[in-house]
Amino acid sequence: MSVRPIVRLGHPALRTPARPLDPGHLANPEIQLLIDDMVETMADAGGVGLAAPQVGEEMQIFVYQAAGPPEIPLRVVVNPMITPRAGDLVYDWEGCLSIPDLRGLVPRHPEVRVRGLDRDGQPLDYVAAGLEARIVQHEFDHLNGVIFLDRMRDLHSLAYFEEWERYMIDRSRQDLDETAVG
Ligand SMILES: [Zn+2]
Repeated sequence: MSVRPIVRLGHPALRTPARPLDPGHLANPEIQLLIDDMVETMADAGGVGLAAPQVGEEMQIFVYQAAGPPEIPLRVVVNPMITPRAGDLVYDWEGCLSIPDLRGLVPRHPEVRVRGLDRDGQPLDYVAAGLEARIVQHEFDHLNGVIFLDRMRDLHSLAYFEEWERYMIDRSRQDLDETAVG
């Protein structure tokens, strides 16, 4: 396993819709190695999610995990389809490993149903809520060439991390949830 370079905004992989994987190819060693490397790269970068296009692979795979709180166990999702569940959009802070150092307020659905395959090709069907729902929507967007800046309704909240920490974060909320960085 190894840490792969994370591509940054401007790399075409971040703006190209990723192709679905043939489930018959999931067992290929290079695909399994890509997944292992994505998990290691995410951890090395201190992120809570990573999509394959962020390491330059235009395939429909994302991984996520958060130490918490709230703790979110490692998930590997292949060929995902997500469906929003009822509920008003929720604004919270996001960042992106491919857009280093920036934070902004992004509206997301509070709950989404996730369907797809795990790394062994077994079907996944579950509901993600809260921070997990936010991460899933952020990573799913990466598979469609969409970044969090595209989702912002108002760029006034956009800030560099240091200034965000100093002037913008509401510290009373810090222990309630973690900023989604994927
Ligand atoms: Zn991202």
